[in-house]
Amino acid sequence: GLGNIYVCEALFRAGLNPSRPAGVLANARGGPTRAAVALAKAIREVLEEAIEAGGSTLRDHRQADGGLGYFQHAFSVYDREGAACLRSRCAGTIARVPHSGRSTFYCPVCQK
Ligand SMILES: [Zn+2]
Repeated sequence: GLGNIYVCEALFRAGLNPSRPAGVLANARGGPTRAAVALAKAIREVLEEAIEAGGSTLRDHRQADGGLGYFQHAFSVYDREGAACLRSRCAGTIARVPHSGRSTFYCPVCQK
């Protein structure tokens, strides 16, 4: 699956709350909703940027020095708990939700 970092970043870019149930990504006819299309586009963009930034693997990992090996300057929400949201005109603060050994980072104000 996608690395946790990329999921956090793509959800932020698409403006979707991580707690949003997957069901709202499909409409009554089983087709993708506007949110699903936005999320798919955001995932593609985030992955393309990660690859351009030098990522050779799409898994979360840490280098021997403990730093994130790639894509580290491009994070909008990942590992930014308590920092100001980067979306223009948003006054939100990035929140962290721990779950099953990982953390999800998101902006509670602009991610609906
Ligand atoms: Zn925000």
